[in-house]
Amino acid sequence: MISVTILGATGSIGSSTLDVISQHPEKYELYALTAHTSWEKLAALCIAHRPRFAVLVDGSHASELVETLRKRDCATDVLIGEEALVEVAEASQVDYVMAAIVGAAGLPSTLAAAKSGKRILLANKESLVMAGGLFMRAVEESGAELLPIDSEHNAVFQCLPRDSNSLLNRLGVTRILLTASGGPFRDVPLSELDAVTPEQAAAHPNWDMGKKISVDSATMMNKGLEVIEARWLFGAKPQEIEVVVHPQSIVHSLVRYSDGSVLAQLGNPDMRTPIAHALGWPERIESGVEPLDLLNVQELTFTEPDLSKFPSLRLAYEAVAGNEDRSIALNASNEVAVEAFLKKQISFTSIPKVVESTLENCDSHPVDSIDDVLAIDALARIAAAEQLRVFGFQ
Ligand code: NAD
Ligand code: MG
Repeated sequence: MISVTILGATGSIGSSTLDVISQHPEKYELYALTAHTSWEKLAALCIAHRPRFAVLVDGSHASELVETLRKRDCATDVLIGEEALVEVAEASQVDYVMAAIVGAAGLPSTLAAAKSGKRILLANKESLVMAGGLFMRAVEESGAELLPIDSEHNAVFQCLPRDSNSLLNRLGVTRILLTASGGPFRDVPLSELDAVTPEQAAAHPNWDMGKKISVDSATMMNKGLEVIEARWLFGAKPQEIEVVVHPQSIVHSLVRYSDGSVLAQLGNPDMRTPIAHALGWPERIESGVEPLDLLNVQELTFTEPDLSKFPSLRLAYEAVAGNEDRSIALNASNEVAVEAFLKKQISFTSIPKVVESTLENCDSHPVDSIDDVLAIDALARIAAAEQLRVFGFQ
């Protein structure tokens, strides 16, 4: 049996992962499920899936969780606090770690999985955006297996030669083409974007996701973070990574080779496909996803992204071309701005403005250790909070 920890089990990726795992009870067993605050959801997951451990980061309702599990004869042990995330990521009994916590909060536990040589199913793209160099080194040194869950990166991984650690140009790769749906505001004129609400921004046309990544998709910062993610995962130069808008979300990404071939991975937009791919790799396992009916797909279209309407993508390209601290500040200020937008403190169009002015106001720092990463992240959050006062509603 393969023993799996799911970090962020109560989220959208967490629930898709549990769906795939429960289709293969003879192959996978659950070591730990983790949640931030939603103890009731965690209790329900423990009762349904019976992991060895449940981690609740915010312990204020821990006694209710313990009591609920006891009443239902569930033998899952409850652990509390951030350190417990690291414990269940690096425990020697664990084989695979699904890294599906949202945001910078996912970095310590995902890095712990990398350092302890696990197979990492990486959904938490923020780990690579913040600490790509350190993370990839930890993977190499420990012999961990890094499998991308982000649908685009999973698609690219599937289109590259198996077991390829070589430079892209040695493989004959000339371009990585990341597809982007364009989000819910692809066809909304720039003049109307100021007035869009968090509810509209979080309603993605093709994918059912957590709130933060949904807003990131609407600003296209998600694609920007994915450019940085691709830079680290595939050792690509920024100019080797191109974004194309593909509203149907059927072609999940493509790789162009020097002989003119372009390989693509297609499928219905359902995260259970990349999750099943990474769980089963190098074998293929059932995911429960509807087969793609090509005759039913009316058309597949591809256009260039509009950087004047979606400046977040431009900011991410500028950050990835600079030193690593720029990506950390980009991610931290974006998290602050998205949270303020969700609380209706700033408008949708202020999100990239907060990020851009934070980047302009942050001094440059070298990134040699995880402490450097966390210090730059903290400084950028303070700088971004100041920008909220400039761009916030009065
Ligand atoms: P979500 O908001 O649905 O779930 C987030 C999970 O993280 C929850 O289990 C929550 O309890 C946990 N969490 C939140 N804050 C935490 C904290 N401070 N400490 C510990 N745990 C915390 O998010 P999601 O949509 O499932 O996304 C998870 C990750 O996967 C993100 O990094 C996202 O970018 C990435 N991703 C998601 C999708 C998708 O389709 N949802 C696709 C590609 C990549
Ligand atoms: Mg993606």
